Amino acid sequence: MTSTVAPSGPAPAAPDAVDLGLPVVGSLSPSRAGDFMQCPLQYRLRTIDRLPQAPSPAATRGTVVHAVLERLFDLPAAERTPTAAAALLEPEWERLQAAEPEVAGMFAGEDDLAAWLVSARGLLDAYFTLEDPRRLEPARREELVEHVLPGGLRLRGIVDRLDVAPDGAVRVVDYKTGRAPGEAFEGKVLFQMKFYALVLWRTTGRVPALLQLMYLGGSSSQGPEVLRYSPDERDLVATERKLLALWEAIERATQRRDFPPRVSRLCDWCDHKALCPAFGGTPPPWPERVPGPEEPLPHQRRAVERAVAQGAERLPQQG
Ligand code: SF4
Repeated sequence: MTSTVAPSGPAPAAPDAVDLGLPVVGSLSPSRAGDFMQCPLQYRLRTIDRLPQAPSPAATRGTVVHAVLERLFDLPAAERTPTAAAALLEPEWERLQAAEPEVAGMFAGEDDLAAWLVSARGLLDAYFTLEDPRRLEPARREELVEHVLPGGLRLRGIVDRLDVAPDGAVRVVDYKTGRAPGEAFEGKVLFQMKFYALVLWRTTGRVPALLQLMYLGGSSSQGPEVLRYSPDERDLVATERKLLALWEAIERATQRRDFPPRVSRLCDWCDHKALCPAFGGTPPPWPERVPGPEEPLPHQRRAVERAVAQGAERLPQQG
């Protein structure tokens, strides 16, 4: 079993080269695992057919707000104010447009863009109602974590923030720019956090003390809120089993070329509804070649490259 990246103690080198040691036969991230659990056909269209997803204002706002919150901690503690965060917003938006020019086409005009920037600013203001970044010194930000399970399934994800207490206790923090789910869906969102906790546990030998989801968009009944959960080893063993079972199901579906649609209210946000048989569409023919685990989706590759680049930029400060 092989892992990369440790969350606590002296900062390790940026993961600019990943030596996994074991042959990797499959790869799962929290979002790919979530895709398959939500709808096998959606997983197929995104991960096997590699159909592009059009940028959306909501997802792009999430990317920019995450980037601002990541950069905010580059500032000296006393300067991490709402005004400073707001000042980072447009530069991060410009940086994203330079990297992904297609995002600029999402807006009908200047007013549309201005309203979107105001909504992003609102999420940043919401962040400051949940915690005071002047009192925090994160150990790691935008951290690429990965671990290969015996058998060759690679688990990989990017953690928004890791805080380490003086006694070594680790808090895993994830920012959510959408609305908080109702109680019925909490298990689903915690699954992503348990995924990270499992990788960190297997990597460092220590179970993270706390998983913290920060919902900047609030919920239908209240404003911004925080969801906290303390995992234990049993939880994480169960998560590992679930991921292995999920991978088996994906392999079986791949062999049979059988990824059925699973209709839910989330279909309204599915990019590929027009190709879905549940809505009268026809999926593309099965591809000649199923992409291997070392071929990340374009947006995953960009996210990993960003995490590596940001880790490298931070190294002089960490040293
Ligand atoms: S429209 Fe719904 S059922 Fe069809 S692929 Fe998308 S998520 Fe799955």
